[in-house]
Amino acid sequence: MRDSDNGDSQRPGSQSSLKSANQHRVVRALQTSGELTQAEIARRTGLAPATVSNMVKELTAAGMVAVPGGDHPGQRGRAVRLTRRMGLAVGIDFGHRHLTVAVADMAHEVLAEERVELGTGHRAEDGVVQAGALLDAALDRLGCDRKSVLAVGMGLPAPLETDTGEVGGPSILPGWVGVDAAAIASEYLGTAVHVDNDANLGVLAEHMWGAGRGTTDLAYIKLSDGVGAGLVLDGRLYRGRGGTAGEIGHLTLDEFGQVCRCGNRGCLETLVASHVVIGLLAPSRGPDLSIADIVAMAEGGDAACIRVLADTGRHVGVAAASLCNLVNPERLVIGGELALAGELLLGPMREVVGRYAVPSAVRSLDIRVAELGPRAQVLGAVALGLRSALPA
Ligand SMILES: [Zn+2]
Repeated sequence: MRDSDNGDSQRPGSQSSLKSANQHRVVRALQTSGELTQAEIARRTGLAPATVSNMVKELTAAGMVAVPGGDHPGQRGRAVRLTRRMGLAVGIDFGHRHLTVAVADMAHEVLAEERVELGTGHRAEDGVVQAGALLDAALDRLGCDRKSVLAVGMGLPAPLETDTGEVGGPSILPGWVGVDAAAIASEYLGTAVHVDNDANLGVLAEHMWGAGRGTTDLAYIKLSDGVGAGLVLDGRLYRGRGGTAGEIGHLTLDEFGQVCRCGNRGCLETLVASHVVIGLLAPSRGPDLSIADIVAMAEGGDAACIRVLADTGRHVGVAAASLCNLVNPERLVIGGELALAGELLLGPMREVVGRYAVPSAVRSLDIRVAELGPRAQVLGAVALGLRSALPA
């Protein structure tokens, strides 16, 4: 609907509903992007610049939007953002040995982050109670309470059964297996909780705050003990019908290779998972290495470590070339523990992607390292909360 062709304007009451519909569009555009100039709001909503200007003045007067650093909210070049009064989104991340809770406003600013150590043996209910306590502490510091929370995103280091929503096994968090994590967390916290896997959270976080900012079609590959991809296509998280889109870790690279935990053989994960990389170097470089140790040794010139990281990059490159042929992303971001290797891994990977992908699929492809490191999970959970809080 364009501003000028409001055919309903003659009907009684229609003007006020148009105003509220326009207001809704402006608020939605701001909530999607975090911050926009008035010109950008006009472009995204299709509203006339004068209409946007009036709308911003009204919303500012109502305390719903602010123009940071500007005394003149009418100035079109300044970025406009929603205020804290418009609500908060929360991310909860259950990691391997910790629990992190982060709170952001609708302008995508992370206002608080709380973290505690948490053993892997806890029961799901106890984990949720701990998350609630951590959330209350964060909200308290912000002078807010749970009523301000519009939506919560949550990450668990475990597979999720897409048809039942239950946490699958085997999991490093045995107390969560068979539990409908979203349901028990929603009930306890009194607000909608959305759960997603680590690759999807990673792509959401990198898209909103990290190496994928400003892209419309983004692929993210997480290389850790598990290997998976998250996809933002046409600006939206793509999960596929049953939520398994992006299972790049189980692309077959060697039909007669190692047996994978999924039951197939020679999956990408059997070649590049962190423990596999460490295992390749254990006989010659010692049994207690971490990926950080291997990267440090490679940077110091250790030929075996350089070789193993390069081979890892080449294997990932073969799978990434197929991914690029299928979805043609504009950027590919590599995250997870192995991203520490930087160009030692990305250089050989780029070479293989260039060799195996269709030239048009990778001509303008940009492959880079993730920026958010271990914070990607909790920030991804916040991003999931922010997306879930968007008005319909
Ligand atoms: Zn597999």
